[in-house]
Amino acid sequence: MTEPIPYEEITEQSYAETAAASFTVTEVSSAILLLRGACPRCGAALEVPLVGGVFNGMRGVSPEAADTDGHVEPMACTCEHDHPNRPEGMTGCGAYWNLRIGVAAE
Ligand SMILES: [Zn+2]
Ligand SMILES: [Zn+2]
Repeated sequence: MTEPIPYEEITEQSYAETAAASFTVTEVSSAILLLRGACPRCGAALEVPLVGGVFNGMRGVSPEAADTDGHVEPMACTCEHDHPNRPEGMTGCGAYWNLRIGVAAE
């Protein structure tokens, strides 16, 4: 056992890079994709549905990245772990990051 990670709204470039490298994508239907992977901070299994668009790869981008090439999807941990200091009604460990979802050109 390790000490529980306290809740903290935090992002690091490595979160996006880790998520981009480790998340997998499942096509639920022609319009819905499901991103699956582990939170880069606390390791919780996460599922993030994405609606619309043609998936053509993803990569981590900086939190300030502009939505220019493809679509930047903001993601956040939504685990149900018991993270100390978490505000009432919140989920997750506070980690957030952006993934750029490549959209195939027409
Ligand atoms: Zn987390
Ligand atoms: Zn967690």
